[in-house]
Amino acid sequence: MDFALSEEQQMLKDLVARFVREELIPLEPVVLEREACGKGTALTPEERAPLDKLSRQLGLWGLDAPEDVGGADLPEVAMIGINEELGKTVTPYVLPPDSPNLRMLMVTVNPDQREQYLAPYVRGETISAIAISEPGAGADPSSMTTTAVKENGEWVLNGRKIWISRAAEADFTIVMAVTDKTKGARGGISAFLVDKGTRGFNILRKIPMIGGAFTYEVALEDCRLPGSRLLGAEGQGFAPMQVRLSTRRLQMGAWCIGMAQRALDMMCEYAPRRVTFGVPLAERQTIQWWVADAATQIHACRLMAYHAAWKLDQKQDVRSEVSMIKVFATEMAWEVVDKAMQTFGAMGMTKETPLQLMASHIRNMRVYDGPSEVHRWVVARKLLRLR
Ligand SMILES: Cc1cc2nc3c(=O)[nH]c(=O)nc-3n(C[C@H](O)[C@H](O)[C@H](O)COP(=O)(O)OP(=O)(O)OC[C@H]3O[C@@H](n4cnc5c(N)ncnc54)[C@H](O)[C@@H]3O)c2cc1C
Repeated sequence: MDFALSEEQQMLKDLVARFVREELIPLEPVVLEREACGKGTALTPEERAPLDKLSRQLGLWGLDAPEDVGGADLPEVAMIGINEELGKTVTPYVLPPDSPNLRMLMVTVNPDQREQYLAPYVRGETISAIAISEPGAGADPSSMTTTAVKENGEWVLNGRKIWISRAAEADFTIVMAVTDKTKGARGGISAFLVDKGTRGFNILRKIPMIGGAFTYEVALEDCRLPGSRLLGAEGQGFAPMQVRLSTRRLQMGAWCIGMAQRALDMMCEYAPRRVTFGVPLAERQTIQWWVADAATQIHACRLMAYHAAWKLDQKQDVRSEVSMIKVFATEMAWEVVDKAMQTFGAMGMTKETPLQLMASHIRNMRVYDGPSEVHRWVVARKLLRLR
C-alpha cells in the first residue's frame, strides 16, 4: 500500500493549511464570542464573502468533484490531508461543495439532475441538506416511516424529520422516504430532491445544539414533487445514502485528527511557559505522558484514515474501517482535547479558547452519522459473522 501524497497534493494541503492559519483562525475570537452569547457559530454573509472569494481564487473549490462538472476529481487520500487542516479551526467554513451529498449525487443523478442539481452544487452556487432521521428512527434509519406515494406521475411525501442540519437554509434537501413498506432498507427506501420553498416541506422549529450548531424539525405534509425529483432508482436509496454517510465519517476522522493536533500543539506551546510550584508544567511527567499519548494516538488515527482513504481509492470495501475510524477518531480527539483543557486549567474552561468548542463538536460527532455504539456493533457483527 502506498498512500504518500504526491508533490502536488502536498502543495495543496500546505495551501489549505495557510488559508486556515491566515484567514480562518483570525476569525475565531468573533466566532467564540458569538457562540458564548448563544447565537451559534455560523459566519455572517459579510464574513463569508471574502473567504469564498479567496478560496475560489486559490482553486480550493470542487476539489473532490468530477472534472466534467468543473471539479478537480482529487482522490480520497488527498482529501484526508485537506480535511485535517480544516479541522484545526473552529471557524465553520466548508470549501464548497460539501463532500457527502456530492458523493451521493454523483452515484444517483440522471443527466437532467446532473445539470440542474449536481453542476450548480459543484460550482458552489447551492447548498444542500439531507433528511434521514425521524423522531422514531435515528440510529436505525431502516425503521423510518416517512412515506412517498406515487399519484398521477407525482410523488406525495408525508412524515416527520428531525435533527436536520441546514434544512431551512439549503437550496435543496435530499429527503429519504419509504416507497415500499414490505421491503424496508432492501429495496423499499428512496431518495428525493426537495427544493427550498416546496409546499408541504414545513420547518417546525429550530433546535439549538451544543457546539453552536442548529438543527431543524421538519414536517412533510402532502409535499408534492414532480416525478423527476426521484433521486436514483425507486427503492434503491439506502446504498447511495450509505456512500454519503461513509464520506462524512471519513471526513470526521480527518477533522478529529486536525482538532487533536491543534489541541496538542496548544499544549506543547503552553506547558513550558506555565510554572506551578516552581517548575514548568512541561517538566511534570503527567503532562509529558499526556503529550506523548496524544501524539501516539494522533499518529495511529492518521494512518488509519489514510489507509481507509487509499483502499477507497482502490474501490475496496471499507465499511468496517470507516466504522472503526469514526469511533477511534472521535474518542481519541475527545481525550486529547480534554487533556489540553486540563493543562490550561481555568483558561481551558473559558469560552475564550477554541478547546471547549472543539470538545462540543466532537461530542456531537459521537452521535451523528451513527452513534459510537452502533459502529462498534457493525465491526463486531462482521467479526462474529452475525447478520
Ligand atoms: C449535531 C447533529 C446534527 C445532525 N444532523 C443531521 C442531519 O443533517 N440529517 C439527519 O438526518 N440527521 C441528523 N442528525 C441525527 C443523527 O444522525 C442521529 O441523532 C443519530 O443517528 C442517532 O439517532 P437518535 O438521536 O435518534 O438516537 P437513537 O437511535 O435513539 O439512539 C440513542 C442511543 O442509543 C444507543 N444505541 C442505539 N442503537 C444501539 C445499538 N444497536 N447498540 C447499542 N447502543 C445503541 C446509542 O448510545 C445512541 O446514542 C444530527 C444529529 C446531531 C447531534
